[in-house]
Amino acid sequence: MKVSVIGTGYLGAVHAACMAEIGHDVIGVDIDPARIALLASGRAPFFEPGLPELLERTLASGRLRFSDRIEDAAEFADVHFLCVGTPQRPGSYSADLTYLHEAFDALVAHLTRACVIVGKSTVPVGTASELSDRLSKTSPIDAGRVELAWNPEFLREGLAIKDTLHPDRLVFGVQSDHVRAVLDEVYAEILQQGMPCLETDFATAELVKVAANAFLATKISFINSMAEVCEASGADVRMLSTALGHDSRIGPKFLSAGLGFGGGCLPKDIRAFRARAGEIGAQSVLGLLREVDEINMQARERTAALARNLLGGTFLGKNVTVLGAAFKPNSDDVRDSPALNVAASMHLRGARVVVHDPEAMANARRVFPTLQYADSIESACWSADLVVVATEWDHYRDADPTALAGVVRSAVVLDARNVLDIGRWRSAGWIVRSVGRPAA
Ligand code: NAD
Repeated sequence: MKVSVIGTGYLGAVHAACMAEIGHDVIGVDIDPARIALLASGRAPFFEPGLPELLERTLASGRLRFSDRIEDAAEFADVHFLCVGTPQRPGSYSADLTYLHEAFDALVAHLTRACVIVGKSTVPVGTASELSDRLSKTSPIDAGRVELAWNPEFLREGLAIKDTLHPDRLVFGVQSDHVRAVLDEVYAEILQQGMPCLETDFATAELVKVAANAFLATKISFINSMAEVCEASGADVRMLSTALGHDSRIGPKFLSAGLGFGGGCLPKDIRAFRARAGEIGAQSVLGLLREVDEINMQARERTAALARNLLGGTFLGKNVTVLGAAFKPNSDDVRDSPALNVAASMHLRGARVVVHDPEAMANARRVFPTLQYADSIESACWSADLVVVATEWDHYRDADPTALAGVVRSAVVLDARNVLDIGRWRSAGWIVRSVGRPAA
């Protein structure tokens, strides 16, 4: 099939390459010409494992190309995936749909053939129906029928290719048999794997995505509030979450206490959900997600407070190393990164903060140019009074505590992600503090 992907960020670039991988002829379109030039030359504009190889393969196959002209997509494709950003609106909790509206209107204005427009961006419930009204009010398109579908995306950065090619489930929000048939054809190769495919109305499709994120965020904030109880009572949150996770009704995932969630999705998605819930009068969701967000932000503050205690009550004149800048491992995404948030807060209170990250340094530097950055873990730790593990990269889990003890000023580590082998670090002479675990 001829497919366009509009918006080639973390979601769209991967989606475009994966659509080409499963045999479609694909055009990826973005308003950022620099991004398009990079992608067209086979380079990924962000770190995502496997993406450079996939781009190289699909570009070479002739099935994938990129353009900064929406007209090219409109003329070419039978199916258009909308993958543009839906960030938090400045000064509000709600989602900013400006990019989505602009992309949608520009596409519709240039359509010359019958097609299906498939929303993949994460949106407040009611958006698809509003776009559908917008479509019906647009002057009739000479070339035939234009229909809308909503097909939310659940990929995880770091595992984006696997999640796109082998999803847990597919959700098709559709209003006609024709659109369902088109989506069945687009995803034929993936559907053969036998995962559940759920056909829903627009509102349910939109809600599946935001409800999933709200649930995951709630799970993380739940265990972080348990970490606070553990700290107050001398219990061990890591053992608690392991024991809870063995309960098949609960499960172990998203149950690691630490610095909490961040990134370009969970925080803004729960806020947008909260705002929308308020608009439509669903008060209980509003209250629930307000608490989840609050607990998540407190995890950052509690980590900074723990760091200050370990430094003897002040950041002034202290050297702090922060290991990790990305909001999670295997990504260079620093949007609303808890690691950088804590690094910046310690810096603002007088610490000299040096940050290391295997992939996210360039992005981190752009957002927080006043922090210092080091190219290796060892150079980051040089002369440190405190080392904070803030992102759960394997690089930090596997770091050699004996070698690092030789370069720091004080061998004190705050494991804000609960990933270190405490026994190994203590044997190497470190004082180790972990979120939600006993001090000694
Ligand atoms: P992103 O900021 O990385 O990418 C968005 C892209 O859209 C940018 O490259 C931007 O230049 C482009 N764009 C903006 N306006 C455009 C227009 N009019 N025409 C063409 N391109 C335009 O964002 P992202 O992380 O890829 O997220 C995109 C959407 O997908 C969001 O709604 C997000 O919530 C959702 N989502 C993201 C993920 C993820 O892991 N990043 C997972 C699932 C869903």
